[in-house]
Amino acid sequence: MKIINNIKELKEEIKILKRKNSSIGLVPTMGALHNGHKSLIERAVSENEDTIVSIFVNPIQFGVNEDLDKYPRTLDNDLELCKNAGVSIVFCPSIEEMYQGIDKNDLTLICPPYCVLDKLCAKSRNGHFDGVLSVVAKLFNLTHATKAYFGQKDAQQLFIVKKMVKDLNFDIEIIPCPIVREQDGLALSSRNKYLNQDERKIALNIFKSLEGAKKLVKMGINDPKKIVDNSLMLMKEMDVEYIEFVDIETFEIQSEINKNTLMLIAAKTPISKTRLIDNMMICE
Ligand code: AMP
Repeated sequence: MKIINNIKELKEEIKILKRKNSSIGLVPTMGALHNGHKSLIERAVSENEDTIVSIFVNPIQFGVNEDLDKYPRTLDNDLELCKNAGVSIVFCPSIEEMYQGIDKNDLTLICPPYCVLDKLCAKSRNGHFDGVLSVVAKLFNLTHATKAYFGQKDAQQLFIVKKMVKDLNFDIEIIPCPIVREQDGLALSSRNKYLNQDERKIALNIFKSLEGAKKLVKMGINDPKKIVDNSLMLMKEMDVEYIEFVDIETFEIQSEINKNTLMLIAAKTPISKTRLIDNMMICE
């Protein structure tokens, strides 16, 4: 496995892979890898001759009051995980290497469509998705990957990345990968590292709300307001940012639940103020 920190060397390696006509899979991450990331990486390794994992805590997708500085960094463990999974290249550049000291305001950015900016994470995290799309586009260009793997855990991100690929004619296939959970249901997240035992218990109520919604729908109760009330009760100790229902195909907000309904939650824990997200199809 090659560990590459700079763009010049990455380009040289990609030239070699292209010369041998290798299919290239890309898994973009911010590191602090867990079994959720591992599932994406293993899928990529199984479907491509060569897999590249990028590890980069991308500053331009963090807002001013967000957790950029304290975001967990566990590079040695991450490299071990990648090596064991059969990854060919880990690309872990510095911020300087990626942006040459250029301030976000002076960078060319890719902006998500206006129709998504007023909802869910795009609404509460101003500028987040232009940071995400810009770094993802850069990674697509640098790696020449033919497939890129994204988790359904970040459902709006997945939707927006797919939209960018379609709208801007990127020659890459986006492979959505299912959410990996702890045994009790908590969605794996690098940010779970911020939670102490009490908060961990409180955070589980996000999953319980989604499961609760599913049960209500099964019982024939599919009034969104009733589902929201039930969720708010379960998450009463949390600071709930949104509970929304969207059509999985269009990401339009739904006022009625149907088989296409994806329910999404973002909420902060009470002590460490950790912002967690999760989602579930509630008519399955
Ligand atoms: P991150 O390092 O948080 O930027 O995540 C990198 C990729 O891993 C993204 O495509 C995420 O959606 C995906 N991912 C993160 N957590 C999970 C999870 N619990 N299950 C599946 N995919 C995940």
